[in-house]
Amino acid sequence: MKIIVAKDAGYCFGVRDAVNLAYDTAKEHGEVYMLGDIVHNENVVNDLEKVGAKVVENIDDVPIDKPLLLRAHGSKRSVWESAEKKGMNLVDATCPLVHEIHREVKKLSEEGRKIFVIGDHGHDEVVAIADQVPNSIVLSTVDEARSLKKIKKAGIVSQSTQTIENVQEIINILMEKVFDLRFVNTICYPTKRNQQQIKQLAKESDVMIIIGSFTSANSKRLTSLSETLNKNTYQVTDSKDIDSSWFNDCETVGISAGASTPDYLIKEVKDKIMSF
Ligand code: SF4
Repeated sequence: MKIIVAKDAGYCFGVRDAVNLAYDTAKEHGEVYMLGDIVHNENVVNDLEKVGAKVVENIDDVPIDKPLLLRAHGSKRSVWESAEKKGMNLVDATCPLVHEIHREVKKLSEEGRKIFVIGDHGHDEVVAIADQVPNSIVLSTVDEARSLKKIKKAGIVSQSTQTIENVQEIINILMEKVFDLRFVNTICYPTKRNQQQIKQLAKESDVMIIIGSFTSANSKRLTSLSETLNKNTYQVTDSKDIDSSWFNDCETVGISAGASTPDYLIKEVKDKIMSF
């Protein structure tokens, strides 16, 4: 059986840098605090907890003498403001590509445009993008776009991990509703590259395995993308979820993973499949 792991499967550079920064900061200060999980992956969060990287719900739960790490997918303005007001030691692990989305959305708003953010409702990155400008609207489906009234001037950005197909479908609807429309394509290049590799691999493989937490919208989206091209697609969180019966009569297995999946989980899954 041939096993092909997508070249850029797993951690994107933004998540990798943020996780490394969390380890380094915990080592230096004994503890570091984060408002919510650093990535949507239970294994990573548990590993970090063991070295002193702790998750809290509220900024007031962070001891004043300990650093607060701002996660890769960006934070609301109120978090920055409260932390600065309290004089906290802020460690900014926001991905530079997320900072860029924040800059773009502000520029579109300054042009007098109504802002639409294409992304998942309630996702941390989307919440933070929408928070950068007043009265922004989050759209996650074409039905939501269809329900909008006519608008004179609007600007659109997207969550960094959206599929281009979903974004295009929503923009097609908005083009009928908005007179002056400007779209800045903020799907990040690691996401585009990952999706491209999955499309290729799904066509070449008998079975596709996508590794990622079921709490990760990004991983679930990659699984859906693979399913459209290969019905033998399975999402797993780690090697324990692998079922040997999936590989009966299988010659080629393709493996990819969400941006929040660490390298060691990919290796464990590959090793388990190789053992069959
Ligand atoms: S998915 Fe893209 S934007 Fe998000 S952290 Fe990774 S590289 Fe940055």
